Amino acid sequence: MSKFEKVRGMHNIPVEETHYWSHVLNFSEKLMKSFSYSEIRLPIIEYTNLFERSVGSETDIVNKEMFTFNSKSDKSLTLRPEGTAGCMRVAINQGLLDKGPQRLFYSGPMYRYERPQKGRNREFFQLSAELFGIESMSAELEVFQIIETIVKKYKIQDSRLEINSLGSEEDQRNFSKALQAFLKPLKSKLDKDSQNRLEKNPLRILDSKSTETKEVLSNAPKIAEFRSKNSTSNFNLLKNLLNDFGIEYKENENLVRGLDYYNDAVFEWKSDSLGSQNTFCAGGRYDSLAKKLGGRQTPAIGASLGIDRLIIACKDKYKFPSQKLIAVILLDKNFLKQGNSISEKIRLNFPDIGVRFSGLNVNLKSELKRAIKNKFNFAIIIGREEVESSTYTIKDLDSEKNYEKLSEEKLFSFLNLTNE
Ligand code: ATP
Ligand code: MG
Repeated sequence: MSKFEKVRGMHNIPVEETHYWSHVLNFSEKLMKSFSYSEIRLPIIEYTNLFERSVGSETDIVNKEMFTFNSKSDKSLTLRPEGTAGCMRVAINQGLLDKGPQRLFYSGPMYRYERPQKGRNREFFQLSAELFGIESMSAELEVFQIIETIVKKYKIQDSRLEINSLGSEEDQRNFSKALQAFLKPLKSKLDKDSQNRLEKNPLRILDSKSTETKEVLSNAPKIAEFRSKNSTSNFNLLKNLLNDFGIEYKENENLVRGLDYYNDAVFEWKSDSLGSQNTFCAGGRYDSLAKKLGGRQTPAIGASLGIDRLIIACKDKYKFPSQKLIAVILLDKNFLKQGNSISEKIRLNFPDIGVRFSGLNVNLKSELKRAIKNKFNFAIIIGREEVESSTYTIKDLDSEKNYEKLSEEKLFSFLNLTNE
């Protein structure tokens, strides 16, 4: 019979890499908690119109990339392509916006129907922070601090933060019109995607990677010329604060996001080691989203870290600690109780160590061979002499050194030392 293949673009994280994922998630979630963020758990399936209303019906995500299907009662449902809309929906439904500023985080898979390539999948994992109810730039700074801590921890090569300000919603409308008017007569010089965006989503043209389009854009009107006074002074304040905090950044006047809900500050962290999918974290301010989704007017800002790309960017440089593994092996079936008891004691006292008790498989040679093959660090061997003297022999499987007949106390100090 032929084997089943995975669905194109879905995740198959190799077993030997899953600990990268849990390490990054554990570290980042602890970090968010240390900034007093609460975890919010969100469903993967939402009504399709949630994304039409928030992300925007003329965006690539909603137009081309959603996994949409009908429920049995003929309602249009969608596998979430991003988490912000769902997070805001829950905050509104649960009345969180009435309770003062909210600092929330979540992680999980997102789904977009894209062409799979390095750093781009149809199922990918995001970890996001969302901050509701803070109008001042301290919200942006806080998010920058969190992400920068993660970037430093995982030694992301040549990471850089790029920022821009899109201005208010009105500024964006005015700028879009001016950009459209400028580009219309030059339409034939634009790449195909940009030609399609010209009518419905001209801002996204700034994002184009085509050299011809970039050339045309070099003389186009700039966002800065359309930014209101208020947005300009907020953006200047943000840049000053970044300087004060010693957070390096680059201003990129062409930085726009693929979602409609953003205003003012937008930002991305990039690393060239990722190749063409070089953005591993992105976000911005979205002060109008709460109202668009039927909630009260609430300033908001968020950032999403693409865990898949973060791991690609760090795994060659950052040494992820691997779990210490011990095999407990008996030389005689009669010692089952002793073997089980020491295994349990080690699990209790050293919760980070993995203990595999071989049980009734008492063939020392084959058990040792299996342990070495599975990259175990130690074997504890229990034979008659050990049982009679209430001791344990431990074998270091890397150095092949034996430490014979250690009392339980000595065994535990040995494990304490090696587990540091
Ligand atoms: P891109 O321009 O690369 O398509 P995006 O602007 O669509 O990214 P966002 O919606 O801002 O991405 O998502 C935030 C982060 O999630 C991205 O910076 C990226 O790290 C990750 N991400 C987005 N789409 C994918 C995907 N298809 N596969 C893997 N990671 C993704
Ligand atoms: Mg995209």
